[in-house]
Amino acid sequence: MISIVVPVFNEKESIGELYKDLVENLKKIGKSYEIVFVDDGSTDGTLDILKNIEKNDKIKTFSFRKNQGKAEALMLGFQKAQGDYIITLDGDLQDKPKEIPKLLEKAKEGWDVVCGWRKMRKDSIGKLLSSKFFNSIASIFWGLRLHDYNCGLKLYSKEAAKSLNLYGGMHRFIPLLAHDQGFSVTEVAVEHDKRQYGKSKYGFSKIWKDLPDIFTMLFLVKYRQRPLHFFGLVGGLFMILGAIILMYLSIVWLMGESIGRRPILLFG
Ligand code: UDP
Ligand code: MG
Repeated sequence: MISIVVPVFNEKESIGELYKDLVENLKKIGKSYEIVFVDDGSTDGTLDILKNIEKNDKIKTFSFRKNQGKAEALMLGFQKAQGDYIITLDGDLQDKPKEIPKLLEKAKEGWDVVCGWRKMRKDSIGKLLSSKFFNSIASIFWGLRLHDYNCGLKLYSKEAAKSLNLYGGMHRFIPLLAHDQGFSVTEVAVEHDKRQYGKSKYGFSKIWKDLPDIFTMLFLVKYRQRPLHFFGLVGGLFMILGAIILMYLSIVWLMGESIGRRPILLFG
């Protein structure tokens, strides 16, 4: 069975259309399926629409009383999903259900996580730039080279999805969290659409939230069990710099010059 997990927060205009599109494409695939909608505390009536859709027995709806964030919504979806493959996509019609077979094809080659890569991304220029910056920094730090860490359309083996512990801004780092646990991660180019209804929940300002998160992730993933490898390196570099400066000043002093009033002494 395949499980589709869709986090939604105030997407009332999109949700009915997405549901139809999903069912149409899932039928074509010909495998048994379930669709798990996670309503992330919507206040625009999205939940009522979902409750109506839920009358179809392949659909399950779960909801938070209050908005918790995409990471938390995905986590709840992963807990509830029962399929062998779990596929996520955004609830705003930007990710296309017709691309699901591409991800399944790739997964059959043996990959645990297949990420969508929005090669022709239809978002604002600010978002494109901040995303490019984020993807390159993340790739450099972790050595997991992906074009697009944060595409909503992704496929996971059941084990990979259930192994994740996501909160806060962590949905942006899923590929590397999975990679860090030893799951194989790859990407395939997928189509992407403009947002047609409602508003994006993550604007350009997200870059200021992404940057600190990159460092949090660096510590959580790489240095959690060996903090001195990070702080020791930084401390070691400063120690060497100080030693060089003081050595230089000692020589100057031995040659008869006074050094007591030089700022560099304090710096050293
Ligand atoms: N979303 C969510 N909780 C939030 C913010 C967003 O469940 O707190 C959902 C949202 O409804 C959409 C997906 O996460 O289905 C991606 O959000 P959005 O389209 O706003 O992000 P963008 O595509 O602009 O990066
Ligand atoms: Mg979107």
